[in-house]
Amino acid sequence: MPTLKRPDDAPTVELPPRQAVLAGDTDVLVVGGGPAGLGAALGAVQAGARVILAERYGFLGGNATAALVMPLMSFHTQMPTKERRGATTLLPTDHGPGEAVVGGVLATLLTRLVGVGGAIPPTLATGYVVPFDPEWFKLVALDLLDEAGVQLLFHAFASGILGDNKVEGVVFETKSGPLAIRAKVTVDCTGDADVAVQAGTPTEVGRIDGLVQPMTLMFRMAEFHRAAFEQYVKDNPAQWRGVHGLWDLVRKATEAGELKLPREDILFFATPHEGEVSVNSTRVTRVLGTDVWDLSYAEWMSRRQMRQIAEFLRRYVPGFEKSYVMQSGVNVGVRETRRIVGDYQLTADDVLSARKFDDAIARGAYPVDIHNPTGTGTILKRLPPGEAYDIPLRSLMPRNAEGLVVAGRCISGTHEAHSSYRVMPIVMATGQAAGVTAALAARCGARPRQLAVKDVQHELLRQGASLRKELLKAA
Ligand SMILES: Cc1cc2nc3c(=O)[nH]c(=O)nc-3n(C[C@H](O)[C@H](O)[C@H](O)COP(=O)(O)OP(=O)(O)OC[C@H]3O[C@@H](n4cnc5c(N)ncnc54)[C@H](O)[C@@H]3O)c2cc1C
Repeated sequence: MPTLKRPDDAPTVELPPRQAVLAGDTDVLVVGGGPAGLGAALGAVQAGARVILAERYGFLGGNATAALVMPLMSFHTQMPTKERRGATTLLPTDHGPGEAVVGGVLATLLTRLVGVGGAIPPTLATGYVVPFDPEWFKLVALDLLDEAGVQLLFHAFASGILGDNKVEGVVFETKSGPLAIRAKVTVDCTGDADVAVQAGTPTEVGRIDGLVQPMTLMFRMAEFHRAAFEQYVKDNPAQWRGVHGLWDLVRKATEAGELKLPREDILFFATPHEGEVSVNSTRVTRVLGTDVWDLSYAEWMSRRQMRQIAEFLRRYVPGFEKSYVMQSGVNVGVRETRRIVGDYQLTADDVLSARKFDDAIARGAYPVDIHNPTGTGTILKRLPPGEAYDIPLRSLMPRNAEGLVVAGRCISGTHEAHSSYRVMPIVMATGQAAGVTAALAARCGARPRQLAVKDVQHELLRQGASLRKELLKAA
C-alpha cells in the first residue's frame, strides 16, 4: 500500500520555540465552519458579540460540503408509518408528520437555501429530510455570515491555545506562518474537540472497545435515469426500501469478485437535481479520524471503493448505464472521533426515553443510528412516537477548561447518544446555544459555566430556537 506507514518506536525531534503574529482580538472566536460553527457564529453575533470564525478549508459547511454529506436528516419528532418496500422516492419513507424540534439558525439557513432553489423543504414527500445542493450551501452560509458581520479567516488550522486551561485565544497554522487570535470566549466546533484537547479537557473515543463508526467517502452520480430505476424497483419490489437495497445485485457482483465492500447493500439519496443521486456506500472500518495514518489509509481505500461502486452501478443497475461520478468529497466523511468529558454526559437512555433537563438548550428527535464499527449492518433505535429529548447546557461545558464552550458532534455524551445528536440539524442547534453562551459570558466577563441558564434560554428563544413550551414560559 503506497500510503506512509506508521513508524513503530520512532524517535521524536525537538522543535525550536517560535512566535505567532497576533491577527485579531474578539469577543467570541468560533473554530470550525461546519454546521455547528455556523450555528455558533450566528448565535453569538445575534446576541451582540464581535465574532471571528476560523476554518481550515477555504469554504464553509464542514461535512455538509467538504464531505458531501447530503441530505440534512430529519429534525422532526418521529411518527413512524409502515415502511413501504418498493418505494422509489430515494428518500426515507417511514416517517410521518411530526413537530420540528430545531429552529433558529437552521430555519434561517433553510429558508434561504429553499429560496434560491438549493434545497427541497422537509415534508412527507421528502421523508422529512432536506436534500440540498452543497455548492448552494457554501454560498448561502457565506452570505449569512457576511450579512451578520462575522469576520472570517480561511485556511487556518487550529494547533494550540493561548493561556493554559483558561483559553485566552487560539494559535493557527497558515500559509502566512503561525497566527494567534485572542478571544474572551472560544467555541470549539472542530468536530474533533481539537481546541478542548489543547486545553486539557479529557475526551472519550468510540464504544467500550474504542472502535468508532466507519468512515464513508460520499460522491454524486450524474446522468441517472430515474424512470428506468423506478421500473427496475417495480419489477423487483423486495430489492429496494426508500433509500437502500439492491441486495441480490450486490451479492451477485460480490460473488463475481467485482465488489469488495463491508456492506450488504447500496445506499443513495435523491438530491434537488432530477438526474443525480448522492451515494453513501463506501465503508472503511477500524479507522480513527484523529489519526493521520488511519486517515491516509481511509482516503486511499475509500476512493478505490468508490470506483468499484460506480462501475457496479453502471454495469448492474438499470438507470445508471450512462452515469458518472461528477464529484466526490474533498475528504472522506468522518462520523465519529473524540467526545469531550463535560459537566454532564448525555446517554442512550436520555435519548431513547426523551429525557427533559432544566438546563435544556437544544432538542433532538433523531434515532440512535450506529453504522457497524466492524463490518456490515446498522443499528437503528427510535424514540417513542412524537417525543424529543433535551440537550443540557452542561454537555457543552468541557471539564478542566475555562473560557471555552464546545458544540457539534464532539459534545459530552456516550457513543450511542452521539449517534443521534451528531446529525446536522442538531449540531446546528448546539452550535447556536454555544454561541449565545459565549456571547453572554464575554459581555459580562463571566465564566461560561457560571451563567444563569435562564439567560441563555431567553436569548435562544428570542433568536427563534426551538425549546420546550414549559421552558418558554419560565424563560
Ligand atoms: C458519511 C457521513 C454521512 C452522514 N450522513 C448524514 C446525513 O445524511 N444527514 C445529517 O444530518 N448528518 C449526517 N452525518 C453527520 C454529520 O455530517 C456530522 O455529524 C456533522 O456535520 C457534524 O457537524 P460539526 O459542525 O460538529 O462538524 P463538521 O461537520 O465535521 O465540521 C467541522 C469543521 O471544523 C473544521 N476543522 C476541523 N478541525 C479544525 C481545526 N483544527 N482548525 C480549524 N478548522 C477545523 C473542519 O474543516 C469543518 O469545517 C453524516 C456524517 C458522515 C461522515
